[in-house]
Parts: sequence; C-alpha cells; structure tokens
Amino acid sequence: MTETVNPFESFRTQLDEAAGFLDLSDGELERLKQPERMLETTLSVERDDGSLTTLTAFRSQFNGDRGPYKGGIRYHPNVSRDEVKALSGWMAYKCALVDVPFGGGKGGIVIDPHDYSETELESITRAFATELRPLVGPDRDIPAPDVNTGQREMNWFKDTYEQLEDVTAPGVVTGKSLDAGGSEGRVEATGRSVMLTAREAFDYLDIEMDGASVAVQGYGNAGAIAAKLLEDRGANIVSVSDSSGAIYDPNGLDADAVSDHKTETGCVADYPSTKELTNEELLTLDVDLLIPAALENAIDEETAEELAADIVIEAANGPLTPAADDVLADRDVYVLPDILANAGGVTVSYFEWVQNRQRFHWTEERVNNELEAVIENAFAALINAYEDRDLPTLRTAAYVIAIQRVLDAAEKNGRFP
Ligand code: GLU
Repeated sequence: MTETVNPFESFRTQLDEAAGFLDLSDGELERLKQPERMLETTLSVERDDGSLTTLTAFRSQFNGDRGPYKGGIRYHPNVSRDEVKALSGWMAYKCALVDVPFGGGKGGIVIDPHDYSETELESITRAFATELRPLVGPDRDIPAPDVNTGQREMNWFKDTYEQLEDVTAPGVVTGKSLDAGGSEGRVEATGRSVMLTAREAFDYLDIEMDGASVAVQGYGNAGAIAAKLLEDRGANIVSVSDSSGAIYDPNGLDADAVSDHKTETGCVADYPSTKELTNEELLTLDVDLLIPAALENAIDEETAEELAADIVIEAANGPLTPAADDVLADRDVYVLPDILANAGGVTVSYFEWVQNRQRFHWTEERVNNELEAVIENAFAALINAYEDRDLPTLRTAAYVIAIQRVLDAAEKNGRFP
C-alpha cells in the first residue's frame, strides 16, 4: 500500500534536513521552501465532437535568484497544485546542484492525455501557452517536457508563443524537435545522466558495472534509455515495469526489444520473459541497482524495509517518501538523489537554450561530452560535501550544496522591493 504523501511536504522535509547543516535564519529558510509565484488557470477547449472541456492547469515559478525559471510541463490526472509546487522546487535545487544558470519552475495540466485526440491535445497545449504567454519567455521562464509531454507539445508551445509575440524565439521552450530548434541528445539526456550517475557511484563504491543486476521501475523516456545505456556498459537488466506490471528475467532482458514491444503494444507486461512480477516485487528484488523511474512516492516506508538493492538511483522526481528515505539511510542503502541523477534533462535543455541563443547547432558528441563533464563535476562536489562535512545522506549533501548556491545568488542580488 502506497502512503498518501503530499510531495510538497516531502520537498519541505528534505530542505529542513539540509538546513540543519547550514547557517540560515527561519525567514531565509521559509523563503527557500516556497514558490515565488503560482498561476492556476482554467483552460476551456472545444473537443472533436463540438463539446467543451474544462481543464485545470498550473505553473509554479519557484525561485529566480540564479536565472530564468526552468522546468517541464506535465500532463497527468494526478497533477495538483502541491505536486507542481514540489516539482518546481526540486527543479530550482537541481539546477543549482549541476550549476546550470536557471531557477526552478514547473507546470502541469490535470488531464489523462490518452483520453484526447492529437487535435484536442494541440488545442489544449496552445490554450495553455496562451495563458502562460505573459509569464514565459527565453529570459523569463522556459518550459520543457515532463511526464506525458515531448517534442510535439514543445513545438506547439513554441509556435503559439512566437505567433502571439510576432517574434522568432526558439529559446522559449526546450525539448523541441531538431527541425524546430531542438538539441541533439536531448531525448536521451535524462537516461544518460542516470547512467553517468550509476557509473560514478559504482566507481566510488568499487562495484563492477559489468554483470551488475539492475531493476527499473517505469519504462518511459528516462527508464528505458537508462536501461539501454546501462546495458551497453555491461549491466544486466533483470526486471522492468510500467503501469501494466513488471517482467523479470534473471539472465537479462533486451532493453531495445522491450522498448520495441512497448511501442507496439503500449505496455511491457506481456513481453516474453521468465516471469511476471508485481511492481512491489520488482521494487524489492535483490539487485545491485534499483532505478525508480516513474512518479513520486513509488517507495514508501514499508517497501523501503523490504528493499534488497544496494544502490537506488532516482530517475523520477521524488520517488521516495521521507520515511522511506530514513529507512534506507538506517539500512546503509546508497540513494543517489533525483536532483543529481535526472539532471541530464535540464542540463541538455540548457545546452539547447544556449544553441538557440547562438543560432548554432552542436554535434551530439559535443552535447554528450559536455553533459558528462557536468555530471562528473556535480558527483565529485556531492561526494566531497558528503565526506568532508560528514553529512548523513547523499540527498542532504546535494541540498546543502544547492541551497548554499541559491542563497549566495540571493545575497549578491540583494533585496528588492
Ligand atoms: N522535466 C525534466 C525534469 O524534471 C526536465 C526539465 C527541463 O528540461 O527544463 O528535470
């Protein structure tokens, strides 16, 4: 049974834990735990049958001390005000940890996109872009893909903004298709940073990647690409899942073949494998590495007690409840936090935005090399803080670094008004 945990409360708890190791007043801490601005809007869009649908949408601009607000837009029935607030906060500290010059933001529409046609989704995306127009811009707030959104939605968003503003402004969103000003390597970037984080963590802990067993919960963009890149480096992907269930093969699944099967049938569950598992069984498999790559709260206290992996790498945002985090810390399970592991997405978004400003297209090799350097540097800084300051967890170490960077920027900016 998954606990009902409010992700914004989880986010605030994570900040409180790190704040204990920083010299912060209560007022300063509270400022770092709240979004600066939050929009809630109602989108009224005509459906294919002529009826009118009414949808709730949000955009949270969390913190702009280090640069324009930045973060994805999620289409999911469970989107809520507090979820968007939490996700925007995680973005702010993620950007700070990998030292990308952006603040944090996030948006979402309460919708199950599978219930809508492509034409309807286009109207909905364009309606949301129209509502957001006064708040976004290449130097203001830059959306990107998140759960259930991708290049298609970003292209619509960019086109709407450009038409309304009567400008060319590809840098208003990232995650666009290549022909609309997107970057090489952006689609793979989140999975790639998960693989890079795994590589660094295995190195640090002196574990061989070759032959290491890996389970991946969630086989969307981040999970499937992380699985493929880890497989390329010799890891054995023994189990993967999506909302249809989990599959297991102790001899290793073929990541590409599972992806093809999912593209054809819409799910992984009936892929020919040794065994079908429940999601819970996947999460408690005795593997070297567990990658939660779906949504928040996937691992609660109870699951954490049963978890048998040595390392957990968070490809999703917020997949562990704070209680689960405590259990895993007590049990000495290494948890590589989301704000490092999945930061490849926003890092290559930054490269896309830079290329849009330069009007110059980077090669895939350049993108991947620059991303590798960013993750290596962030990992090294994280381990330094963790060891030198004797911090209790890698997550706390990540927040200590990130909060300090946001604070430093805020202090230099001064107070206005
Ligand atoms: N949605 C992604 C994340 O949660 C990427 C955000 C971005 O590229 O701005 O990190």
